[in-house]
Amino acid sequence: MAIIRVALDVPVDCLFDYLAPDASVADIGLRVCVPFGKRRTLGIILSVCADTAIPSNKLKQAERIYRDIPPLPPALLELFKFCNRYYHHPIGQVVMNSIPNRLRQFKLTIDQPSRAFAWVITDKGRLLDATDIPARSRAKRLLLTTLQDNGQIPPEAFKQMSAHNRKLLREFLALDWVTQMPLVPGLPTAQTEPPSPTPEQNAAIAAILADTGMFASWLLHGITGSGKTEVYLRVTAALLKQQRQVLLLVPEINLTPQLEARFKQRFPETAVVSLHSGLNDNERLQGWLLAQQGKAGIVLGTRLAVFTPLPELGLIVVDEEQDLSFKQQDGLRYSARDLAIYRAKQAGVPIILGSATPSLESYQHALAGHYRLLRLHSRAVSGATLPVIRCIDLRLTKAPEGLTEPLLTALQTALSQQQQSLVFINRRGYAPVLLCKSCGWVAACTRCSSRLVVHLHARQLRCHYCGHQQTVPAACPECGDPDILPFGQGTQRIEAALRSHFPAARILRVDRDSIRRKHAWQSVLDAVQNQQVDILVGTQLLAKGHDFPNLSLVCILNADASLYSTDFRAEEQLFAQLMQVAGRAGRADIPGTVLIQTEFPHHPLYQALSRQNYDSHARTLLRERQLTHFPPFAYQAVLRAEAIVIDSALAFLGKAAKIATACEQFGQIQLFDPVPAPMMRLKGRERAQLLVHAHSRKHLQEFLFDWQQRLHTLAAQKKVRWHLDIDPLML
Ligand code: ADP
Ligand code: ZN
Ligand code: ZN
Repeated sequence: MAIIRVALDVPVDCLFDYLAPDASVADIGLRVCVPFGKRRTLGIILSVCADTAIPSNKLKQAERIYRDIPPLPPALLELFKFCNRYYHHPIGQVVMNSIPNRLRQFKLTIDQPSRAFAWVITDKGRLLDATDIPARSRAKRLLLTTLQDNGQIPPEAFKQMSAHNRKLLREFLALDWVTQMPLVPGLPTAQTEPPSPTPEQNAAIAAILADTGMFASWLLHGITGSGKTEVYLRVTAALLKQQRQVLLLVPEINLTPQLEARFKQRFPETAVVSLHSGLNDNERLQGWLLAQQGKAGIVLGTRLAVFTPLPELGLIVVDEEQDLSFKQQDGLRYSARDLAIYRAKQAGVPIILGSATPSLESYQHALAGHYRLLRLHSRAVSGATLPVIRCIDLRLTKAPEGLTEPLLTALQTALSQQQQSLVFINRRGYAPVLLCKSCGWVAACTRCSSRLVVHLHARQLRCHYCGHQQTVPAACPECGDPDILPFGQGTQRIEAALRSHFPAARILRVDRDSIRRKHAWQSVLDAVQNQQVDILVGTQLLAKGHDFPNLSLVCILNADASLYSTDFRAEEQLFAQLMQVAGRAGRADIPGTVLIQTEFPHHPLYQALSRQNYDSHARTLLRERQLTHFPPFAYQAVLRAEAIVIDSALAFLGKAAKIATACEQFGQIQLFDPVPAPMMRLKGRERAQLLVHAHSRKHLQEFLFDWQQRLHTLAAQKKVRWHLDIDPLML
């Protein structure tokens, strides 16, 4: 009698055994419906065996094994098991939350490839001689030649075809003369010739292609505008020729339609599937299935796409590898970059980590020789140079409404030369708050340890952590002074100031609020490309890899707030962000200027930035980290706890620290004191954290394994929620 061991979406780290008379090892990776308590639930079969520790009178029978789609491949199941062990997250939750939603439902109706699919001729179809088709099958001949001439039949044309022709197409499909592919929206008909690679690009491409048959981690460290994408495209082209699949991970796909378009344009005959949070469940499932069947040549996606089954995987690219969004911040707190490396190793294929400002982790790996380093030192477009970066000393120059005279002058110059400018506001840790100058009262959130942010247009105060909203009071609630003012520069306030200075300029504000609508982001990009904007005002959204060829001036406001943060990674992250945003200037033949308003113009970070010297700055930071024994020279995990009151959370962590002393490898790890989290109150609960530190990943893992099991017995006694975060990026 076969026993199946099933992963279920429950917060207990074990598999559940069921009787399944008809099961065999071929069913590993399939979905199964099983009774669980009083309900039925869906799970994934992770193993099939002959016996179980469950007494036979308690053993229940599985209701049904679904064989409608092929099982999850062994490589993916291995990845899930790795996540379970490494991130100490229950196996069932790892599995069930990493597959498409639709696969978690009982009834899976896989929609026929719908309106969104085109019929595209295959290589086999292209090589056929239409005259080999007997002349009496005129329609068949005609259909084949049409396909050979046009390459594809788009969905609209398919809709208008006769029933006979549609039948023929299905016949062609069965013969492998055509294939169905997701439609490429707005595919330009005129193909532009790809640029010929620069010598630096060529060297990088050749190096990677020399060794595609084995695992290698490449760090592609190229300055902004050096043409890293062209390297990805060329290497991708070579692997597609070998019938391999390419996985391309990007920080936020909604913000990178340009990248998606470039891949679709370059490979019009390849199915490019994109997997990101903007899809509905059906779209996600269809893309996922195309990948699983090996039909999608290119899978482009955000962090979750790292869990896509790819039977023919030949290459992984992680673009902007330093980006924080590759780390999931709740549930299974995985690093998609790190898992991508695991997958590349598992599949024996190369992985390219691309960045202008690599994370210190990756940079250190490259220095130590674990990663192979490729450098692109110059910009790809001939004549394009790096911008000149200058600081404006706020101690010497007044900044009424947040804008200094030299900055306004530079904006005026750009305007008169009909060039675009970008005003970048670093809002991290610094937002416009409502302040009473008489008594010092600041509008704060009652549920979080945060200040409320002024939204002038809506005349509202909002909490950016829990979503609380209220109207702006008419006077100070403490002292009654009606003269309360927004303090600090938010995007809206700077936008208003710029409008009064440059009434004739076309100013466009871009932040989370303004691009919430669907397609809003695309219209921003279009407006910039079509020269309908003079000054862009925005936050980090604008910093990421966009190419604005007519942009000559970048102004950076209030970056100082991140300089003296409590988070040890704040400086690394600020440097990366400012390098990125500075990199927007002077992309093509217009030389760029970057102006930074700061009270600390001599801070080493700004000094390194103005010399655009990533390496010296990174080495300085690495030396500091080495002296203080911080990552990447140590490994961390953080235990976070939350409760109604901070004291319970801290007390829980105190107990956790006590039981840690009995754990394996305790001598090899270091525990910090439990402390309230920097953002102590969040959504009505209070949070504390306890940092664990070790010099060896192995020791840390062994300790955590033991500790975690003991923590479960503690938690049962208290109304405290807790989780472990391995390799945390934000503390
Ligand atoms: P990065 O991602 O490294 O910042 P991109 O890949 O966005 O840079 O490339 C910057 C610009 O350079 C793009 O407009 C791209 O089309 C162009 N480009 C890339 N490679 C070449 C090349 N070999 N010759 C000419 N232009 C190029
Ligand atoms: Zn007051
Ligand atoms: Zn709040």
